[in-house]
Amino acid sequence: MWKTTALLFACACSTGAPPLHVPLGSAEMVPLAERVYAEPGLSADEHRALLEAHRQAAARIDEVFGPLPSPLALTFFCKSAACKLAFDADLGASASSPDLGFARDGVTTTSGWQVLNVVIVTTQGATTARTLTHELVHATMKNWARYDASPTWFNEGMAVVIAGGPECPSPFDPAFDVTTLDTKETWQAHLQKPGVSTRDIYCQARDAAAKWAARYREPRALGAALRARLSALARSP
Ligand SMILES: [Zn+2]
Repeated sequence: MWKTTALLFACACSTGAPPLHVPLGSAEMVPLAERVYAEPGLSADEHRALLEAHRQAAARIDEVFGPLPSPLALTFFCKSAACKLAFDADLGASASSPDLGFARDGVTTTSGWQVLNVVIVTTQGATTARTLTHELVHATMKNWARYDASPTWFNEGMAVVIAGGPECPSPFDPAFDVTTLDTKETWQAHLQKPGVSTRDIYCQARDAAAKWAARYREPRALGAALRARLSALARSP
C-alpha cells in the first residue's frame, strides 16, 4: 500500500494545478501523475505500467508534434466497463472491448462538467501505450481543427500511422475505397455492417493516410505538415 502512496506523492503536480476530482461510483479516479488518472482499485504494479505507457505515448506525441499550443490532453485509464461507461453512458456493449479508447471534450467532476481535452483508454497490458497514443493523436489534432473538419478516414488512418499499429494483415478488399468514409456517421455505419472487419478498415485508412504522410520523412516534418493541413481546414468554410 505504501507504494501507491509513494506514487501519489510522486505526482507532485508541478504546475500547481490541483488534481481533478472525477467521481467513479462512490470513489474517485486516482491521480497517478499530473494530468494522468486511473480507475481506483488498481495495484501499484498496474500504476507503474500505466505511467510507463503514458510516458511512451507522450514521447511519441512530442516526437511528431513538438511543443503544443495547449497542454497534452488529460488521460483517464479505465480497466472496467463501468469506468468507461462513467465517461460515456452511450458506449453500450462496446464498453467491454479490451482495446477501446476515445477522446472527449470534457469530464464530469464533483463540481460539475468541465470542458477539457480528455482521452479515456482501456488498460490492457502491452498495447495500452499504442491505444493511448492513438487517442492522444486525435486529442492533439484538435489544437488546430475539430475532428469533423477532416475526413474520418484521414483522422483514423493518421492516428494508426503515428501510433504505429495495430499490425495489419493483408490483403484487404481492394475493391473497397476507404476514403468514401469521410464522416463519423459513415465510418461508424460501415463498421457495423455484417462481415466488415474493424481492423481491416483501420488498416485501409492507415494505408490511405500513409500515402499522404510518406512525403514527410522526419516525424517533426509530418507533424508540421499535419498542423498546416488542419489549420487550413479550420479556416475553410
Ligand atoms: Zn481513432
